Amino acid sequence: RLEIIDLCCAFDGHQVVTDVSLSIAAGQVLCLLGPSGCGKSTTLRAIAGVETPVAGIIRIDGVEVCGPSGLTLPEQRGVGLIFQDFALFPHLSVADNVAFGLKGSRAQKRARARELLERVRLERYLDAYPHELSGGEQQRVALARAIAPKPRVMLMDEPFSGLDNRLRDGIRDETLALLKEEGTAVLLVTHEPEEAMRMADEIALMRDGHIVQRGAPYNVYNAPVDRAAAAFFSDIN
Ligand code: ATP
Ligand code: MG
Repeated sequence: RLEIIDLCCAFDGHQVVTDVSLSIAAGQVLCLLGPSGCGKSTTLRAIAGVETPVAGIIRIDGVEVCGPSGLTLPEQRGVGLIFQDFALFPHLSVADNVAFGLKGSRAQKRARARELLERVRLERYLDAYPHELSGGEQQRVALARAIAPKPRVMLMDEPFSGLDNRLRDGIRDETLALLKEEGTAVLLVTHEPEEAMRMADEIALMRDGHIVQRGAPYNVYNAPVDRAAAAFFSDIN
């Protein structure tokens, strides 16, 4: 479970995230939508702990990882990240990239890597190296790697945008189904209204650093808070 209360982030005194409050239960997907520059990635980076907010509280499974009591290191938050600018370790095989940071015996880690690579249809590349894969394939390896340690919270910043259409829906549906099964709270940033309508348990619309509307996909679609929100959903057919 992820809870964020009144999160504020600023760069050089200029506030780009203002009083953002969100909560996502275990196994739920919240889609965060909004125009370029509205503060989506900054919000995700603050939750991950790679950006330090100026105010606000972040709790993961009830444990405060950011707030008056201080900051928990990113690697100790139980948060998985998959961003647009993912990077694999070039000197490690695909299997070792996915297994990186996992606990257990070598055989257990390899079995987990194989399981995840099957999900993204790349089991044949277990022993290949990243440079032997296409960009879209590397992105799928990065997805598998992010999921492998069973994070309590998964932050996804347009993780499916670089995948070709033929594969995208299947991989997206299976990835989110797997995260749901494992009880992970998912925060998914997307520019695609159809993706949000299909995948989200809840949608949050962000504008100029503020959450302007939150609700079930059907409600947000049917009763958009303003013209811009309506326009966003208008090309869904
Ligand atoms: P996009 O949809 O284009 O990815 P976004 O909603 O993710 O946009 P952010 O990346 O969160 O937007 O950026 C929000 C604002 O903060 C922007 O005005 C951006 O220029 C600014 N910003 C982001 N990162 C930094 C930084 N490291 N230093 C200074 N300003 C930044
Ligand atoms: Mg962004």
